[in-house]
Amino acid sequence: MALSDTDFFQPISGAELPRFSGVPTFMRLPHVALDDEKIAEVDIGIVGVPWDGGTTNRPGPRHGPRQLRDLSTMIRVRHPVSKINPFEALNCADVGDVAINPAGLDDSMGRVTSFFEKMMASGVRPLTGGGDHMISLPILRALAKDGPLGMVHFDAHTDLFDDYFGGFKYTHGTPFRRAIEEGLLDPKRVIQIGIRGTQYDGEDIEWGRAQGVTIIEIDEFFERGVKDVMAQAREVVGSDPTYISYDIDFVDPAYAPGTGTPEIGGPNTFQAQQVVRHLEGLNIVGADLVEVSPPFDASGGTAWVGVSLMFELLCVMTTSPAHVRKMG
Ligand code: MN
Ligand code: MN
Repeated sequence: MALSDTDFFQPISGAELPRFSGVPTFMRLPHVALDDEKIAEVDIGIVGVPWDGGTTNRPGPRHGPRQLRDLSTMIRVRHPVSKINPFEALNCADVGDVAINPAGLDDSMGRVTSFFEKMMASGVRPLTGGGDHMISLPILRALAKDGPLGMVHFDAHTDLFDDYFGGFKYTHGTPFRRAIEEGLLDPKRVIQIGIRGTQYDGEDIEWGRAQGVTIIEIDEFFERGVKDVMAQAREVVGSDPTYISYDIDFVDPAYAPGTGTPEIGGPNTFQAQQVVRHLEGLNIVGADLVEVSPPFDASGGTAWVGVSLMFELLCVMTTSPAHVRKMG
């Protein structure tokens, strides 16, 4: 049965119910749980992963999904530049949060992977609100079942560190080293953009480059500009399945201070939106926006930047050949 456009789940309009009222789901969409039969109709599931047990510095992203949902009620339906209305292109829903175990890292990683495996089994592509950056590893374990993925990664940090605290392998600084080691990412199809900040010894960057990862440090990003760097990003990932991972600390802390590991000298919010707009038409199998930490985000401004970037990601996800409507 093909769904007509009018059958797609629609956000509650601010013209019907004020944006500050009602139950705050992601972008005011219906909540469809994974065990609800309606899940079969969902193309893109917006999902929260409230985990911050991988945080090595200032904690708090476990509170991210709730704050992101709250601020996301200010999002309207149409992209101002591309004119994409994701809610007319595909069926989108809030699929809830993964029930993580805040006291158990291995247990939580397993819970994240099995939640995302269930989404994949129902044909639902994930757009995730984090959570710290460690969550990308168990997500990739679910998404890379058919072989290694490419990745466009926006971040002030490579998250390619080997270990912390004397051999501890799983933190928000290590997910992509593990993902490359586990064969979930093809390093030659990975590009990291925005890298900056004081360093330990630079081993993470050297290791990444030795694997074939393209690493664009912030000086190069500003020297070449958004358009040129993103043209290279498109070349690096090509037309094969690609994941998008967006750490809010890519954005300068003047605009997004509510995060655990802020680094000055970063892109402004306009540049932060622009980089996503250049991902249109890529074969995007999923995306995340991580590291919003409400305890350090007193005004909610960082969460607002975060959900605005999630809307940008949602719009380009609808243009992905991976999202040809499963029931259309
Ligand atoms: Mn990160
Ligand atoms: Mn970071």
